[in-house]
Amino acid sequence: MEQVPTAPAVRDVRLLPKAHLHLHFTGSMRPATLLELADRHGVHLPEALSSGTPPKLRATDERGWFRFQRLYDMARSVLRDENDIRRLVQEAAEDERADGSGWLEIQVDPTSYAPRLGGLIPAIELILGAVQDASRSTGVGIRILIAANRMKHPLDARTLARLAIRYADRGVVGFGLSNDERRGMARDFDRAFAIARDGGLLAAPHGGELAGPSSVRDCLDDLGAGRIGHGVRAAEDPRLMQRLADRQITCEVCPASNVALGVYEKPEDVPLRTLFDAGVPMALGADDPLLFGSRLAEQYQSARTVHGFSDAELAELARQSVRGSRAPEDVKKELLAGVDSWLVG
Ligand SMILES: [Zn+2]
Repeated sequence: MEQVPTAPAVRDVRLLPKAHLHLHFTGSMRPATLLELADRHGVHLPEALSSGTPPKLRATDERGWFRFQRLYDMARSVLRDENDIRRLVQEAAEDERADGSGWLEIQVDPTSYAPRLGGLIPAIELILGAVQDASRSTGVGIRILIAANRMKHPLDARTLARLAIRYADRGVVGFGLSNDERRGMARDFDRAFAIARDGGLLAAPHGGELAGPSSVRDCLDDLGAGRIGHGVRAAEDPRLMQRLADRQITCEVCPASNVALGVYEKPEDVPLRTLFDAGVPMALGADDPLLFGSRLAEQYQSARTVHGFSDAELAELARQSVRGSRAPEDVKKELLAGVDSWLVG
């Protein structure tokens, strides 16, 4: 009898072990939780946040970015007390686990939460405590990146960096810089990043999203970046890609976010293939699933369906996310072994 080869069943990307290195705190909230908390605390949400569908955003001009930030601030305003913070972190961890993420590095600017939570230090300690509990109950390893806000004064960033290094052995692994990268210069924040690096933290500023390849170079040259938030526009500069590849600097690429914010017109325009072929390590991320409508596994799914990544290539993307993380070696080893099993399974 002739043996009929059977096509392999499509491997489920949710079962592919991976690390998630680009997720913002409020942006990780479930839409239903946003509505429930807004209701509980009497916060009136604008239509764009209450309609149940992701808002239309176009952040490539300043007005669009301002609108995006305003919506983010509105969403953040429903987080009023300890229970809200704990719930957000617990649900984020559950969603990570459902998406096959074994390691999460979540980014937070504690300054924005401090006023309601009794100050900067109580806010950080509350978040770290919530992270520890959620990690224990879900099995997902979770660490924090403390991110400074580019729209604020560089001295604020230094204060935050000094605070961040005090928690370096208690769950803080990195220091970031977020908000509109077209504003000011990266090097205004060089001292803050030097403090963070000297204190053993990974420097992981945003760059190469709203601004071009030069913003990625600034992150490397001025801030000593060991990882780049987004960095996707490095694809416009072959020499820069070569540099990222040579130094194995991971770019936290967030395809759905890029399209939602208008960095690229269509999903197929996100240069995943260009970066991958140039050997730039990537960690796919969801950025702000609350506002962009898709979580981690969907980024891998889009690599498959939109960019034609084979299962072997998806596995390589997952490995890159793990290698680019600050997970301890034993966790990395276990996740990488899981990636291999996914591929042969
Ligand atoms: Zn981001």
